[in-house]
Amino acid sequence: MSELSLKEKLFLPKKNGLSFIIAGPCSAETESQVIETAKQISACEKVKVFRVGIWKPRTTPGNFEGIGEPAFDWLRKVKKETNLLTITEAATPEHIEICLKNSDALDMIWIGARTTANPFSVQAVADALKGSNIPVLIKNPLNPDIKLWAGAIERFQKAGIEKIGAIHRGFSPFENIYLRNLPKWELAVEIKSLFPNIPLINDPSHISGKREYIEEIAQKALNLNFDGLMIETHISPETALSDAEQQLTPKDLTELLKKLKFRKSTSDNSEFLSLLERYRDQIDSIDYQLIELLSKRMQITEKIGKYKLKNNVSIFQLKRWLDITETRKEFGKSSGLDENFIKRMLQLVHRESIRLQSKIMNSNKIN
Ligand code: PEP
Ligand code: MN
Repeated sequence: MSELSLKEKLFLPKKNGLSFIIAGPCSAETESQVIETAKQISACEKVKVFRVGIWKPRTTPGNFEGIGEPAFDWLRKVKKETNLLTITEAATPEHIEICLKNSDALDMIWIGARTTANPFSVQAVADALKGSNIPVLIKNPLNPDIKLWAGAIERFQKAGIEKIGAIHRGFSPFENIYLRNLPKWELAVEIKSLFPNIPLINDPSHISGKREYIEEIAQKALNLNFDGLMIETHISPETALSDAEQQLTPKDLTELLKKLKFRKSTSDNSEFLSLLERYRDQIDSIDYQLIELLSKRMQITEKIGKYKLKNNVSIFQLKRWLDITETRKEFGKSSGLDENFIKRMLQLVHRESIRLQSKIMNSNKIN
């Protein structure tokens, strides 16, 4: 069997320690900025793919919107002078046409968060790609809607694209937090369980918004077994025409990649596996006990619902609810559990209790 190319290896479900690391500027600005950044990045062995935005989707008009087609000549030089594969963002059928025309300079395409949020745009781009075999990485949409993200992946699969990846770049926050975008890690974990065989890449740059938080986010992604990272890197981040505050220098990128702990997805060490299995048995048994207890709790909830109906008393009792949250939070704390975790768990249980009691009230059946 012939040796697989790097591009093929990056999309294998099992990569034997090969991480899908992408780095490069937010935007292509000048020829020397692109080539110099790529050359310096290529000295870092871990980086396999060079990213650069050629068309930039800017939230507010009047900002730098990208160089457009001339940047492909720069990417051509990058490919000639380094071993890096190349990737850029495409958002319209016109972009796709230009990408495919320049396919000798481009190895992959990514779909931006603003595009993934719009199924019409995703479909138009997917249709324009029919018949081509260029890999596509799909960023999560701006809003935390897993169905939109999964739907976009499916549209490219249906268009016949074989090599597909997902990029987790976080979700627009409704209020100010220290990060630019909310990670909502649970959604990244969910997309991986829906599409276990496609690489999941974390973009700590767009989640962080600021250089100083990139390490924390990237390490968290590696702890969660992400397949790779996409990190914005620029020879002169301070003067960048877009996303200046979140880009790293190639030197800082190299340092960061040295510092980060890359985790194995599992281990074949038999001691590790047998102890892990013992712990998992314990967790299984506790989970079943929890479910049994919850079932008992809900049976009592139903009894109370009927009792309230008989006495014409409302379901929601503010004093009782405040009392429950306060006492359980205290008890949880003394048991070493996080206050917020207890609060969220109680809210979930309480919501279910209200749902069950509402059903009883609505059916008007006391027995
Ligand atoms: C980018 O990668 O530079 C970009 C515009 O990202 P996003 O679509 O995640 O905002
Ligand atoms: Mn950017």
